[in-house]
Amino acid sequence: MGSIIYLKAKKETSIERFHPWVFSGAIKRVESNPQNGDVVSVHANKGRFLARGIYGMSSIAVRILSFEDVAVDEELILDRLKNAWDKRARLGFVGNSNTNIFRWVHAEGDDLPGLIIDIYGDTAVVVCHAVGMHRFILKIAENFTEISNGAIKNVFDKSGTTLKKHGVDIENSYLLGQRSETKLVEHNIYFKVDWEKGQKTGFFIDQRENRHLLRTYSKDKIVLNTFCYTGGFSMYALQGEAKKVISLDSSQSAIDLAGENVKWNHFDEKKHESVKADAIDYLKDLPDDIDLIVLDPPAFAKHMSARHQAIQGYKRINHHAISQIKPGGIIFTFSCSQVIDKKLFRDTVMAAAINAKRKVRILHQLHQPADHPINIYHPEGEYLKGLVLEVE
Ligand code: SAH
Repeated sequence: MGSIIYLKAKKETSIERFHPWVFSGAIKRVESNPQNGDVVSVHANKGRFLARGIYGMSSIAVRILSFEDVAVDEELILDRLKNAWDKRARLGFVGNSNTNIFRWVHAEGDDLPGLIIDIYGDTAVVVCHAVGMHRFILKIAENFTEISNGAIKNVFDKSGTTLKKHGVDIENSYLLGQRSETKLVEHNIYFKVDWEKGQKTGFFIDQRENRHLLRTYSKDKIVLNTFCYTGGFSMYALQGEAKKVISLDSSQSAIDLAGENVKWNHFDEKKHESVKADAIDYLKDLPDDIDLIVLDPPAFAKHMSARHQAIQGYKRINHHAISQIKPGGIIFTFSCSQVIDKKLFRDTVMAAAINAKRKVRILHQLHQPADHPINIYHPEGEYLKGLVLEVE
């Protein structure tokens, strides 16, 4: 059954706790020269079988697909995909005319490490972070229509960008069908999504429920949405009858799309202003009439080594917002850095509040939604955290 990887003594404990990664530092010996993306078996130091998964040439050497001695093949991947689809159906995402944007596969959270698939109407957008997973996808993308009972008609493979880092030179392309013009809707708000050229899979689906909450806070407010991307939070604020919404991002194509989304939903264009700027600069000197601020920056730290600097970044933007917002103001503040956990984020925001010397209360603690599930044995899968603050 392919190559075998033997772990160093005592390095099997994390696998016995069902953690789905083997780090390269835990490996004692690799038998029969597996290639990037091959299926390999993982054995303990003394030879006992532990797991089977796909081999990679990065610090995560094996992504485990089974802790049982079974074949890791197309059939297993198809079963997992079907299982994930059925779960989304139970969550109410399938055939839902109010929301047709959702995450079908959330990597380890759906027992499919290295695989992200987002659904935009009748299109599935695939991002593989592992060569082995990409090999499977190329073979089975045509089955997506059947798995989804006809819901998926197009499959766009956007793995090119991520896999280049793993030494694989492929272009993003449609594996099935073509670009679709199906109207995309989230909680009854229309969104234009450019999955071919936009960031990540085209849209930040993970903020859906947090945007929905913001709607309830928006009536008659002046809202500043920093790091707005294509205006997700802004559209909810407009729908929630905000007095005025300022959408700010450093990407011109993102704010252009935000402007289009305002028109697309027939919101009053006079109430919406787009600003192309560096949020960190803009936040230093805010207009004094802002009632509600959204801070949703990109991951300031992608690795542990950048953690300290990231904390300073979060502290700075939160300090600017807390110190300048109107009395009674509300701040929706987020971090999507995996290496900053819930407690560290909250402590960082607290440090910002101390510096601002204002009374601050936490009204809500926010999270990633149920279509981004967390495998309990893989705490790294918990990445999005947010706080709704009230500043006196
Ligand atoms: N809140 C958004 C997602 C934000 S993603 C939503 O709900 O869809 C983070 C955004 O920050 C990206 O659009 C990126 O272009 C923008 N960005 C990154 N660095 C920035 C900076 N220094 N100033 C302003 N925007 C920035």
